[in-house]
Amino acid sequence: SGRWARVAALLKELEERCATPVGKLRQVADAMAVEMHAGLASEGGSKLKMLISYVNNLPTGEETGLFYALDLGGTNFRVLRVQLGGKERRVLKQEFEEVSIPPLLMVGGSDVGEDVVAELTRAIERQGLDMRVSALINDTVGTLAGGRYHDNDVVAAVILGTGTNAAYVERAHAIPKWHGLLPKSGEMVINMEWGNFRSSHLPLTDYDQALDNESLNPSEQIFEKLISGMYLGEILRRVLLRLAKEASLFGDSVSPKLEIPFMLRTPVMSAMHHDTSPDLKVVGAKLKDLLGIPNTSLKARKVVVQICDIVARRGARLAAAGVAGILKKVGRDAAVKGGESVPRTVVAMDGGLYEHYTIFRECLQATFEEMLGAEAAASVVIKLANDGSGIGAALLAASHSQYR
Ligand code: ADP
Ligand code: MG
Repeated sequence: SGRWARVAALLKELEERCATPVGKLRQVADAMAVEMHAGLASEGGSKLKMLISYVNNLPTGEETGLFYALDLGGTNFRVLRVQLGGKERRVLKQEFEEVSIPPLLMVGGSDVGEDVVAELTRAIERQGLDMRVSALINDTVGTLAGGRYHDNDVVAAVILGTGTNAAYVERAHAIPKWHGLLPKSGEMVINMEWGNFRSSHLPLTDYDQALDNESLNPSEQIFEKLISGMYLGEILRRVLLRLAKEASLFGDSVSPKLEIPFMLRTPVMSAMHHDTSPDLKVVGAKLKDLLGIPNTSLKARKVVVQICDIVARRGARLAAAGVAGILKKVGRDAAVKGGESVPRTVVAMDGGLYEHYTIFRECLQATFEEMLGAEAAASVVIKLANDGSGIGAALLAASHSQYR
């Protein structure tokens, strides 16, 4: 019928616009490496801030003592307590609590320019606790440190959670914008703030443009809006809404819930995407319970899964291209460089999206191998560093307090 022909046409259009053939991914990786250079060359030289973290020593394993880490994310707040026992004994004890941040605390004002360390110190004093704040660390930098503690070959870290970001180890003399003393280690951790990356090579659709226009930060964080957990579900919702309106995907009426921004969260998308039941009952249940769309046909449910697949794969493939871009910048993207074989290289990954969205994670891995080729991919490892950001923060607090 005309309805399904229209659905098929809109799907085909989406698929074409979201396509990420490997040639395009190479262009994205190249653009990432170029922007990295530009951001290191001068302040404001690129959309990539390439922030100097002032972390020039990563954990060695020698760290000892009792440390707490507070990890404030875009969705979750984690408190971690670790007892470090030094080189031989390592992490003696590790406990953690996680709570999702109440919506009330997610919005509203803050006094921009307040010193968070001073505020935290005051709050600790109010509670009468005998504690000192020893370091304030970005989560990607923490993940890099936590990753390095467990594996000496970690050179970069990527967070794929509510938002996305990356950090990596740069040679100090490759940072022209840095005029300070060069550290003894000769290295410096750079917080890329890669969520703000953009390039004409990114496959942006009308759905993405509309999402961006209606967002709280129009024309910012374009890379993040294509790949992170905050947005994947929202892109899916926008596509479904258009298909419901223009092709009556779910029948004659359009559920008002489908019109509500961010009504469809990425974990729900993920659950529908992973539905392996023959009648796609998870998809049916989510559409009914969360979006107020009852009695969906199997055909319509299959369309929903197809859209999940298009949107998630595009995100995962672009994330892989971003990682390839970092490795290109540091000369670790091929098995052999200048006649010498490249040492084993590890990228530490953390964040709820990477951890829980299996198809996304597997697609990222496969794309990465597709881009680098089998030979290089054998020596470059992408590794889940579970709660790396929290442990890493504790480790950096430890090494920092030892040298004071
Ligand atoms: P934060 O971003 O607050 O640091 P996390 O790293 O735990 O927290 O990431 C939380 C995000 O991960 C959620 O906002 C969601 O987008 C994504 N996420 C969590 N669980 C899943 C899941 N099962 N499938 C897909 N994405 C998930
Ligand atoms: Mg986090």
